[in-house]
Amino acid sequence: MLQLRNYIGGQLVAPAAGRYLPNIEPATGQVYSQVPDSDAQDVQRAVEAAQAAWPAWRATPAEQRGKLLVRISELIERDLERLARAESIDNGKPLKLARTVDIPRAASNFSFFGTAAQHFASETHMQDGVALNYTVRHPLGVVGCISPWNLPLYLFTWKIAPALAAGNCVVAKPSEVTPMTAYLLSELCQEAGLPAGVLNIVHGTGPGAGQAMVEHPHIKAISFTGGTKTGEHIARTAAPMFKKLSLELGGKNPNIVFADCDFEAAVNTSVQSSFANQGQICLCGSRIFVERPVYEQFKAAFLERVAMLNVGDPLEEGSRQGALVSEPHLQKVLSYIELAHHEGGTLLAGGQRVHLGGRCAGGYFLQPTVFEGLGPECRVNREEVFGPVVTLTPFDTEEEVLRWANGTEYGLAATLWTRDLQRAHRVAHALETGIVWVNTWLHRDLRTPFGGMKNSGVGREGGLEALRFFTEPQSITVKL
Ligand code: NAD
Repeated sequence: MLQLRNYIGGQLVAPAAGRYLPNIEPATGQVYSQVPDSDAQDVQRAVEAAQAAWPAWRATPAEQRGKLLVRISELIERDLERLARAESIDNGKPLKLARTVDIPRAASNFSFFGTAAQHFASETHMQDGVALNYTVRHPLGVVGCISPWNLPLYLFTWKIAPALAAGNCVVAKPSEVTPMTAYLLSELCQEAGLPAGVLNIVHGTGPGAGQAMVEHPHIKAISFTGGTKTGEHIARTAAPMFKKLSLELGGKNPNIVFADCDFEAAVNTSVQSSFANQGQICLCGSRIFVERPVYEQFKAAFLERVAMLNVGDPLEEGSRQGALVSEPHLQKVLSYIELAHHEGGTLLAGGQRVHLGGRCAGGYFLQPTVFEGLGPECRVNREEVFGPVVTLTPFDTEEEVLRWANGTEYGLAATLWTRDLQRAHRVAHALETGIVWVNTWLHRDLRTPFGGMKNSGVGREGGLEALRFFTEPQSITVKL
């Protein structure tokens, strides 16, 4: 059985303690590889390798660093099919989704930041006749990147690429639940000729390898994406050490449909925003609010399209819904379906585990599930389910829907559907979310600031925000 290895100092190496965790294919429930269960010793080696590599990497001109990142991007594009298949097997997502979204985006992350570093400028403040003030942005040194299982290579590279572009050396940990494409990336980095120690990938659990990274005194910053509870724990550990922290956390996103919307577009995209990746995207809109005059019409059209989302083997081209990532996660989502019944919801679609035959007999499949009749105060409408479960709720006024939309502890993203331009701006500005999509969903321009308000996180990723996070500004004043 394939044993994955850590990538430390340019070499693929076994974990120091020789321990491994089983890596399960969600579509079959079978162990198909083993992932290093690394600990503080491995993190220490990775930090030492990164520290050794840093002086030369920092001194490498941005253009040359960028060329290496672009080369990695090209290798990801070359291996698109192999990586997409690996991602689908490891995560349970439909192969088509991995091929069209996850892997192309991982390639874009490297090419975008590979070139962005050359466009990164700092400020000058001239005090007429008195002084010239200018800002230098220094890389931080060794930084840590920790990512979740839902968009494995996509989010892993979204952190690593800007950190490297800004001149840092990196110790990175992918989720232990989906380690495969990070492992394949380490091979591509070797092939691209990335200097040894510039990027180090340590596999393992959160409490093991992850905690050791957060506690390490020589890791200057942590860029983390994952659950809000984990983010809270990381902040508690890292804040007293004055580490820079970027925390991209959970969401409970509203999707608001006004009666004057482009109806077909709203319905079709709402199916996507509800169930893409089995609802396991932090940006999925799991609370759908529909203005009363079109509520029944929307419900009927939405349910008709949901019925067409066939659940099947993620490797088969026709499957629209793959497997959930793990048995514990499936059980968590099922517990919220049970809770929705207890809270008085009416089940409109789905609600059951799906048992497929053949090679997928042991897989973690669930029907796309829709409830109505759950008030905004219900736990199902306030807590992050992170699965294929959405609620439909009619609303009467803009003020009411804004109160409900903003009525959770989260503030990551929101979508709204209307043809009224004034209302689009007014409602967007009143939403307490870091991202608002008007008449679209998951439309991404990598230059825009990405991140959440309230318990959805601290800081922003993307474009110049990421390069700023991974650098320390130094202000220099020269008396004229
Ligand atoms: P998680 O918090 O369980 O794990 C995320 C990562 O943190 C994993 O690599 C894990 O091993 C590591 N980790 C866990 N405990 C740690 C510790 N004590 N110290 C250091 N690292 C630790 O999250 P998950 O279940 O993998 O992912 C799902 C969550 O991620 C959802 O809440 C989802 O909303 C969120 N998410 C947010 C965004 C965003 O951009 N805001 C994007 C994707 C996912």
